[in-house]
Amino acid sequence: MATLEIRDLHVTVGGDAESTEILKGVDLTVASGQTHAIMGPNGSGKSTLAYSIAGHPKYTVTGGTVTLDGEDVLAMSVDERARAGLFLAMQYPVEVPGVSVSNFLRTAATAVRGEAPKLRTWVKEVNGAMQALEMDKAFAERSVNEGFSGGEKKRHEILQLELLKPKIAILDETDSGLDVDALRVVSEGVNRVRASGIGTLLITHYTRILRYITPDFVHVFFDGRIVESGGAELADQLENEGYARFGVNEAAAH
Ligand code: ADP
Ligand code: MG
Ligand code: MG
Repeated sequence: MATLEIRDLHVTVGGDAESTEILKGVDLTVASGQTHAIMGPNGSGKSTLAYSIAGHPKYTVTGGTVTLDGEDVLAMSVDERARAGLFLAMQYPVEVPGVSVSNFLRTAATAVRGEAPKLRTWVKEVNGAMQALEMDKAFAERSVNEGFSGGEKKRHEILQLELLKPKIAILDETDSGLDVDALRVVSEGVNRVRASGIGTLLITHYTRILRYITPDFVHVFFDGRIVESGGAELADQLENEGYARFGVNEAAAH
């Protein structure tokens, strides 16, 4: 059992005195095996929450705490966060020319596990995970993220998730830009890792992915904080009503 606890988190962006407060007191607890969906309009601070937990240098935590099983996540380096069992897709560079997917994954697995995976079982592991994600074998030899389509990027994200087996995974907009096929494959991947006991924080603007992944909890994010929490039915409600009730003039769905 692992528990990620976010308490009264305040974050500014910009880094100087004139910096703007984006997160205004976020409270959230994600435990192993639970799937939490964070839904909210554009600009509400969802990605800021993900980046802050990831330790992105652009974001300054000005108050509150983030702990993983009682350990202070905010005091950890980005690498330490990964080793502690946090998976944050955006912690890795966007493009790594000259580094193949296969080498990248092995390096990441070595860092997280503390020792290099045995080559023979590793190849089997990677092939199995790639098959499950309906990925071509040749993909393993491509340079990380170089010329990846939107769907390939997301599959690569879920591939990492399946191989690195973190305690808690934070997925920001995993559903954006996916066609129906890719969305299904990616959702199945998320459901698989969920069944294996990983706690997931699924950040999304749209309700579409929630037709494939039924969250245990849904949180509405607005103006830097969670303004409402509920079960999966809250997502259905947002799909029908949008965020209008929270003073936002846009539809949540479509
Ligand atoms: P969401 O993911 O919900 O769309 P974001 O976290 O991306 O929201 O953005 C929240 C607010 O913070 C927005 O007003 C955005 O303009 C601002 N913001 C986010 N990142 C930065 C940054 N690096 N520099 C300046 N402003 C930023
Ligand atoms: Mg945004
Ligand atoms: Mg965002």
